[in-house]
Amino acid sequence: LMALCKNCDLALFKYIVINDFPKEGSSLNDPGFSHHTPMMQQYLRIKGQHPDMLLFYRMGDFYELFFGDAEKAARLLDITLTSRGASAGEPIKMAGVPYHAVEQYLAKLVKLGESVAICEQIGDPNTSKGPVERKVMRIVTPGTLTDSALLDDKRDSLLLALWQKNNTLGIAWLALAAGRFRATEIKTPGLAAEIERLRPAEILMAESADYALPAGAAAIKRLPDWQFDPAAATRALCRQFSTHNLTAFGLDALPAATCAAGALIEYARATQGNSIAHVTALAIENSSSYIGIDPATRRNLEISETIRGEPAPTLLSLLDTCVTAMGSRSLRHALHHPLRDHAQVRARLAAVALLAEDGASTCDALRSALKSCADVERITARIALKSARPRDLSGLRDTLARLPQLSAQLAALDSPRLQRLAQEVQPLEHAGALLARAVQPEPASVVREGGVIADGFDAELDELRAIQTNCGQFLLDLEARERARSGIANLKVEYNRVHGFYIEVTRAQSEKVPDDYRRRQTLKNAERYITPELKTFEDKALSAQERALAREKLLYEQLLEQLAPDIPSLQRVADGLAETDLLATFAERAHALDFCMPELADAPLIDIAGGRHPVVEAQVADFIANDAQISPARQMLLVTGPNMGGKSTYMRQVALIALLAHCGSFVPARRARIGALDQIFTRIGAADDLAGGRSTFMVEMTEAAYILHHATPASLVLMDEIGRGTSTFDGLALAWAIARHLLDANKCLTLFATHYFELTRLAQEFRQLANVHLDAVEHKDHIVFLHSVEEGPANQSYGLQVAQLAGVPASVIRAARKHLLQLENESAARSQQPDLFTTAAAPEPAAAIDAALFAQLQDIDPDTLSPRQALEALYSLKKLLER
Ligand code: ADP
Repeated sequence: LMALCKNCDLALFKYIVINDFPKEGSSLNDPGFSHHTPMMQQYLRIKGQHPDMLLFYRMGDFYELFFGDAEKAARLLDITLTSRGASAGEPIKMAGVPYHAVEQYLAKLVKLGESVAICEQIGDPNTSKGPVERKVMRIVTPGTLTDSALLDDKRDSLLLALWQKNNTLGIAWLALAAGRFRATEIKTPGLAAEIERLRPAEILMAESADYALPAGAAAIKRLPDWQFDPAAATRALCRQFSTHNLTAFGLDALPAATCAAGALIEYARATQGNSIAHVTALAIENSSSYIGIDPATRRNLEISETIRGEPAPTLLSLLDTCVTAMGSRSLRHALHHPLRDHAQVRARLAAVALLAEDGASTCDALRSALKSCADVERITARIALKSARPRDLSGLRDTLARLPQLSAQLAALDSPRLQRLAQEVQPLEHAGALLARAVQPEPASVVREGGVIADGFDAELDELRAIQTNCGQFLLDLEARERARSGIANLKVEYNRVHGFYIEVTRAQSEKVPDDYRRRQTLKNAERYITPELKTFEDKALSAQERALAREKLLYEQLLEQLAPDIPSLQRVADGLAETDLLATFAERAHALDFCMPELADAPLIDIAGGRHPVVEAQVADFIANDAQISPARQMLLVTGPNMGGKSTYMRQVALIALLAHCGSFVPARRARIGALDQIFTRIGAADDLAGGRSTFMVEMTEAAYILHHATPASLVLMDEIGRGTSTFDGLALAWAIARHLLDANKCLTLFATHYFELTRLAQEFRQLANVHLDAVEHKDHIVFLHSVEEGPANQSYGLQVAQLAGVPASVIRAARKHLLQLENESAARSQQPDLFTTAAAPEPAAAIDAALFAQLQDIDPDTLSPRQALEALYSLKKLLER
């Protein structure tokens, strides 16, 4: 450890380690504080300013952590915990990471939701008297990452802030690496859905706040309530946007969102230790611009994550052939935000149609132009934060140089949307020219090593570099001159790191050296000398190198400053590139996967011919396409059929086609007409939320309740196997009642899959309910699923065959078959309607309902009965029971 601290104030450190480490918990208020060494005072002072994050304290080539921080870091990073010295009898815990590998440790900590304050040595260890001056230069938190090493290329990392006022929740969120800043206000119960939609990396909320956040949603950071003060928030935002008020941003009517946004911007600013000039505006997001998708539905439809939480196979993984990371991020966003505004959707569709039209050539040309584009969005943010690396700038330069061609390609296409993109990706004269002049063709990866600023950009740098490159020639010349002057033919001028420049002469010749030679070093067979001329040259050459590096660093900083005015234009270019990539990807996928252009209708309806489930289709050999017609007149499709028959796949494909159409994408169907939808709901599959402490049935009912409360006539609802989590009678009764409520009260477009065959009889009562079914055929010993959706209810359940297929032992299947037969016979004996309870799960006997009783009850229409007839009916029913 001591050896590692060679560059820093070793003596002081040694002193602290051995004599004077304070006890954990000491603070500025501690009367003993002043007794610590100066360096310890410094450490404690800085730690005191960042009590709730890990402090990485730079000491030479290491970042050290002490006390509790050290213990925590050792545990989280799997690094060695050591302890040195003692203070009041207690050892001082410490752990460290080498500075050159710090990014990988930061990445790990941030993933775990930790925040880190990085404290650098800013003074010069050689000249400072006390401890080297140190300062926290940046704070890394999960939601404020901008470094490419720490960020996922393909998704935005969001910082989100919440502030509640009465029953309204203000939400603001920032993608710092993109400079995108948004806010909205919602009713408090909608919070979970918003969190699921936005998936922030970090959530800021007031200390007093008490929201029900989904478990493990994000790293939570509590801020004192006063940081959400309305006046301070307004001031902070006005300062950020350089405006007098916030009217232009539409914040006047959104006080809760203003408070959240203000606290957020202050926090973001504080973490960067720098200005965040690229955050130039805030846009209000109106959640009614998008089709509402609740958290369960996002999971069930497997948009960007499978139900098990994996990234593939999902809709996103299937469609993401984007050629830029900007495109991938924008695709992810698009799929999670289907648009309700049909004008916007149509504009996208028209552009995609045009790109997909002439085979692949237009689209391919665009994509190959895009492929070599750098991540302009993130580079722009890093320019604003002054953290752009040299290769960010060379990448940006090369991208800007390609824009004229790309813009011309887009301009040649006959679509308003693509024309607009041609405008957005216009070349930027100033930035383009500046970067072309300033940055080396292939710059080094970090500024500190030099080789970044181009030759010819700065006269002073050129001169300093010339001194270094001319070294070789000067030395050759000098060697020739000195040989001539001394008459020593084998005299050599050389250089080594330890001794610098010297003239070497063999011992035998050393008598001949001129008077002005000063001995530098004596070897066995040779003497090394220096002359005044060589000494002067040495000073110049060595300092030239140092000065050149310093000059490059300064020029680089200036370059970043000079690019600052271009930030808004660069952001516009980034948006243009992302959108172009998105549309070209939609076109490419449409072509490759045989999608068709959907037609949009104003009224809520779904009319699909030859629809497919895009993700399942990619995984099975022969996918059977199916139609679906749902409209107010045919409002609910009741889907029956055997397990594994394809019910869930069918329902999900309808929802995915509706969703894709509203994203402006082509859809997997032969033909599709999709009407205006406001929300998509699903209640699919049974997943225990054990972590949330809810049983399968509880989850099922919670989701169902949510749907019953929220679905409107413009909503699409998928219900799969509702009621399955409880006993047959309970489940059947609930499923029955829920279906009726959806038909009667919600009047939403519904796909309702069930194994309760009894529900098919609802068709008699509701003309807007249509039965459809999937079939299977038994073939000798096994069963073949047809996967084709037909009108009418299913007539058989294939539970046993499916169990057999799943590998349930033959003896069990035989026993079950025997028992089933017995049950069916009992049921038939008791009822004249043997199909009444032929459920796949357990055909419970129809004992509770006597067929005759049932038939008679069914014939009674209470509204038309006179009191007397009613009494008679009652007597006759009672009599039936006594039989
Ligand atoms: P269910 O919900 O009726 O139990 P699923 O929808 O889960 O059935 O489908 C079971 C399996 O059948 C799927 O995993 C898929 O492999 C296959 N499948 C479903 N629908 C189709 C189809 N239309 N064409 C081909 N295979 C299908």
